[in-house]
Amino acid sequence: MAGYLLARAGVPVAVLEKHSDFNRDFRGDTIHPSTLELMHELGLLDEFLKQPHQELRELRAIVNGQAVPAADFTKLPTRCKFIAFMPQWDFLNFLASHAKRFPTFQLHMETEVVDLLMDDSSVVGARAKTRSGEMEFRADLVIGADGRHSTVHTRAGLKQREFGVPIDVLWMRISKKQGDPKQTFGFFQHGKLLVLLDRDDYWQAGFVIPKGQFEEIKDRGLTQFQNEIVSFAGFLRDRVAELDHWSKIKLLTVQVNRLHDWCCAGLLCIGDSAHAMSPAGGVGINLAIQDAVATANLLAEKLQQGPVHVDDLRRVQARREWPTRLIQGMQIFIHHRIVTGRASGEERTSIPFVLRLLKWFPILRQIPARFIGMGPRPEHFHSPTAV
Ligand SMILES: Cc1cc2nc3c(=O)[nH]c(=O)nc-3n(C[C@H](O)[C@H](O)[C@H](O)COP(=O)(O)OP(=O)(O)OC[C@H]3O[C@@H](n4cnc5c(N)ncnc54)[C@H](O)[C@@H]3O)c2cc1C
Repeated sequence: MAGYLLARAGVPVAVLEKHSDFNRDFRGDTIHPSTLELMHELGLLDEFLKQPHQELRELRAIVNGQAVPAADFTKLPTRCKFIAFMPQWDFLNFLASHAKRFPTFQLHMETEVVDLLMDDSSVVGARAKTRSGEMEFRADLVIGADGRHSTVHTRAGLKQREFGVPIDVLWMRISKKQGDPKQTFGFFQHGKLLVLLDRDDYWQAGFVIPKGQFEEIKDRGLTQFQNEIVSFAGFLRDRVAELDHWSKIKLLTVQVNRLHDWCCAGLLCIGDSAHAMSPAGGVGINLAIQDAVATANLLAEKLQQGPVHVDDLRRVQARREWPTRLIQGMQIFIHHRIVTGRASGEERTSIPFVLRLLKWFPILRQIPARFIGMGPRPEHFHSPTAV
């Protein structure tokens, strides 16, 4: 998104992606109302909504067998009053295909950043591994948008604060059948959680487990694991046997962290590279996109002229840091209070108090809807346009 917006402003951009395609499974599929609003501001919304997707207007959680409406998006002050579920590779392919129409945009696939180019203490580019050997890319600014295992922030030596996360996620595919229930927020039970993402012809399942317990689960055997999945979502009983080997079940370690400084001379980190997000609440993608928009809004005009000063980069951090802190705080709250299995005796069998409030008072469902659907401080596109 940052590459798209900067190229749109006429800034020469090279996006380096280490994989040969965007077909990664280990990210979410949520396109939030605020992102859809941006697509509208960019004139891309109608075409975007022609891509296969599902629209979710209300989030429901199944808590200890009871349906709890958790968020109502229909009252949001946005054009699209829903979350669109679309595989992230379709979203990224869509953005890349539009970005390629700008003469100053280049996308280099299979180009893995392995180091930064330095001049004294300033970053002046990146060194990347490609199929035809190593290449150097010199740049007025390097934007580290390389996710939670960021090479860029590591090579720059930027210090980060880790927030302990008590969960990991097991990630697997289960086939979908006619008559299956619609997309929900997740199935909560006794402090555990199964999330099912509707990928049209299959369910992408995420099963939240206490951190470090995968080996123990494996020791108990596949049959017990399959039974546990069925105890959350009974309709999967006739196909859970598809999970017939542990190689079909991938362990994703969840992290929440934040860089102390998101930038140094010649370098700015955004998205998970600056602040790794957990899947809790399904908000990390939106936050990463909002960072990209703020980056283009604050820097595009200056980058049209040449290098930017580190104080300009700090303005991006200053704008985006408090929404990030707020959302990470919410994620940590969810980890500890709702999905870790550390709930009190009463909460193990009933609905947690916060969710009960949402059930009793429909108006309150607009609060999580705003938080998830738009996020604090939603950004609007106002960087210059060259074409
Ligand atoms: C299991 C799981 C489920 C999640 N579900 C959701 C959800 O439903 N909704 C939601 O909003 N958030 C979700 N999140 C959080 C979300 O995935 C992240 O917050 C979001 O993807 C961050 O976007 P990003 O662009 O900063 O990083 P990423 O999406 O991680 O993208 C980084 C990109 O950089 C590339 N890259 C990495 N290193 C290099 C390198 N050295 N050189 C070149 N390219 C490189 C990667 O291949 C990748 O394409 C989930 C996270 C996890 C772990």
